[in-house]
Amino acid sequence: MSQTIDPAPPAVMPVTRFAPSPTGLLHLGHALSAMLSHDYARAHGGRFILRIEDIDTTRCRPEFVDAIFRDLDWLGLSWDGEVRRQSEHFDVYRTVLDELTARDLVYPCFCTRSEIEVEIAASASAPHGPPPAGPDGPLYPGTCRRLTPAARATRLTAGHPHALRLDMAAALAALGTVASDLSWTDMDAGPVKATPAIHGDVVLARKDVPASYHLAVTHDDALQGITHIIRGRDLEAATHLHRLLQALMGWPVPVWRHHRLLTDDQGRRLAKRTPGVRLADLREAGVTPAGIRRRLGLADAD
Ligand code: GLU
Repeated sequence: MSQTIDPAPPAVMPVTRFAPSPTGLLHLGHALSAMLSHDYARAHGGRFILRIEDIDTTRCRPEFVDAIFRDLDWLGLSWDGEVRRQSEHFDVYRTVLDELTARDLVYPCFCTRSEIEVEIAASASAPHGPPPAGPDGPLYPGTCRRLTPAARATRLTAGHPHALRLDMAAALAALGTVASDLSWTDMDAGPVKATPAIHGDVVLARKDVPASYHLAVTHDDALQGITHIIRGRDLEAATHLHRLLQALMGWPVPVWRHHRLLTDDQGRRLAKRTPGVRLADLREAGVTPAGIRRRLGLADAD
């Protein structure tokens, strides 16, 4: 199976990470990500880091954090150094947002979800048509980007809840020719051209959570010196945006591997609620960590 083959020896001592969000119990897909990251670091004398991505305080639960430790321990995966919990670092993500705001690359967005839907529906009959679809649905139509400075200031002063969005056109313009040359190295596929514009004016801080996955993960990968990001193909589209954030912030550029996604009997992607694939259930049913590795087509750990 292709995932068992080491794609290439690293040019530097690798630092890999497993970065789950504690919004449910881990399943076989998480085991694949964690084992590929762990094994790559261990095979090349590198470091393997565990990071808890719990910025979404509305969905993350302490019991799922405990379950992550239990599952990794059971799988025999040990990590190096302290476990970083993103929810303890909102102030750091804020400094990045402040910098992007000062550079006019981010703007406040006061729209509700339904206002955005109405705007998109209305634009379908407009001469310019509806906004194109991005990886996560239709792109934001740019309503709040067009607010006058006075209207923006009035709403901010009145304390209207707002998200912060990246001004994609401004970000690309700020990078000049660098933007058109952005690319990354995929450990399996080689060079990939980055096209961050597919994300449009993406949210970098939510109304209810003062950061976003994209911002926090990219910041932390840089902070923690991650050299090899090994994660599922479902996050490949995000890499286009992460390359842009790295270029804007002058952060180092790792290499990536986007591994296959596991599916259930009906070919549907595994989810935290898919029955029969949660690691806790498999453990309970008497499956062993070696059995998990066999099922994933992975070699035994050293
Ligand atoms: N926290 C993300 C998740 O659980 C994964 C982050 C990443 O690997 O980049 O889906």
